[in-house]
Amino acid sequence: MSISYGQGSECRTAKLVLALRGVVGAENCIVDDEHKARYLVDWRKLYSGKTLAVIRPGTTEEAAAVVRACAAANVGVVPQGGNTGLVGGAIPISDGEEIIISLERMNRIRALDKANYTVTVEAGCVLSRLHNVVAEASLFFPLSLGAEGSCQIGGNLATNAGGNAVLRYGSIRNLALGLEVVLPNGQIWNGLRALRKDNAGYDLRNLFIGSEGTLGLITAAVLQLFPPPTHITTCVLGFPSLERLPDIYGFLRERLSYGLSAFELMPGHAVDLASETLRGIRRPMRASHPYYALVEVSDFSQDAVGNSAVEATTMELLERQLISDAVIAASAAQRRDFWKAREGIVDMQPLLGAVAKHDISVPVSNIGSFISQAAEVIDKIAPGVLQIAFGHVGDGNIHLNLIERENEKMSAFRARAQEIGVALYDLVDAFEGSFSAEHGIGQLRRQDLISRRSSIEIDVMRAVKRTIDPQGLFNRGKLFATP
Ligand code: FAD
Repeated sequence: MSISYGQGSECRTAKLVLALRGVVGAENCIVDDEHKARYLVDWRKLYSGKTLAVIRPGTTEEAAAVVRACAAANVGVVPQGGNTGLVGGAIPISDGEEIIISLERMNRIRALDKANYTVTVEAGCVLSRLHNVVAEASLFFPLSLGAEGSCQIGGNLATNAGGNAVLRYGSIRNLALGLEVVLPNGQIWNGLRALRKDNAGYDLRNLFIGSEGTLGLITAAVLQLFPPPTHITTCVLGFPSLERLPDIYGFLRERLSYGLSAFELMPGHAVDLASETLRGIRRPMRASHPYYALVEVSDFSQDAVGNSAVEATTMELLERQLISDAVIAASAAQRRDFWKAREGIVDMQPLLGAVAKHDISVPVSNIGSFISQAAEVIDKIAPGVLQIAFGHVGDGNIHLNLIERENEKMSAFRARAQEIGVALYDLVDAFEGSFSAEHGIGQLRRQDLISRRSSIEIDVMRAVKRTIDPQGLFNRGKLFATP
């Protein structure tokens, strides 16, 4: 398709929308405000934007034609998946001059190769649907996160999603073998290779993974699958102090090796608050403890030993007085209850008050001391603010969220959020950690990216962007502010 446009900008955009309608059909070219609305606000309702139109291509060829038309009109493109991202990456910057490309119609499973343990899937497939499809073939895709009922594979790839099983399987970067991408000039790069070994030149796949929609539109991927675990043991450990965290984790790692597939921190006060705030959340054990670790162990042997290895290990943890209590899930329902408590910590937060979120990683060996020192830093700046440090601590990843519950103090708290962020990220730097462990940069962390990564790193990133997207078409104002 080749389109040329007149000079006037309104005429130009009207012609573009007409051309896009011709590509995807009127029902997939959404221009009225009522139907556009759900694509224009992010999950946390922190960001809202405007758009010329939401375009929903049904095939890679349609997606490429849409991008070519936008490039010809010099109109920006915002890729959008399930819109569950937490940094405003899928919401257009507010000038209303961009097109959103929603992948939601591109949700087919193109191929399932049981012998190669791979699936080729379109970018708009919702993660939980992929779980179900591969489970029907007695296979397992390990990426798992709280938003899995809404987030899409393309969004997972664009944000290099981590989640609850990184400990054993890595983030989606480790799970993706090949990609298909529509480049900003509208060409289709077919890198859908289902290979575990492929050292032919630069690894373009890894460039697009984690690029947050700034380098192109991911339309499909080849993902690795695994045999499903023969047995999963889930348990909760209660313990009195963060100082014990590295020892507990180290001991589990030593005894259970790669069987250890999740190690999540849940502070006792947060579990109690979740059970008071939300229905169906219960404290995992009768007595209350300052901290809980939600631990999952996957067994893959045919003669699965079930819970016995975990029982023996928790007994030893108790004998060594590293933990005070342990409960092993006796049923699938109890396992679900444990995970509900973990997810309840996230779900309750917006109901409590104004929240400032931080997604930090430090080496696992230092995680206990980091959380303790961070608590002191925060308390000095915002005394009395509710601190919840939780999450994937087995990966060194802490979600450190601060909540001001008193209405009259909220505006002062919001005003100080930046000061808190700076102090916190200074501490992260001192611990040689990252200010963005798994949520990415989007609109929210642009300034931190510039100020906390070296100029060498930033220059290389900008050079990559200029090379792949010289018009600066894709996801303007994300990662870096628009010039
Ligand atoms: P979107 O939000 O639609 O987009 C995210 C970014 O990717 C945007 O920059 C967008 O432009 C880009 N993008 C989307 N699709 C494409 C595409 N096809 N091609 C190119 N770019 C694209 N994240 C974790 O890593 N680990 C967690 O444990 C985790 N837990 C979460 C729990 C909850 C309750 C919520 C709400 C979010 C959580 N997240 C987590 C964040 C979020 O779910 C992930 O970042 C997810 O991978 C985003 O997928 P999405 O389809 O919703 O992408």
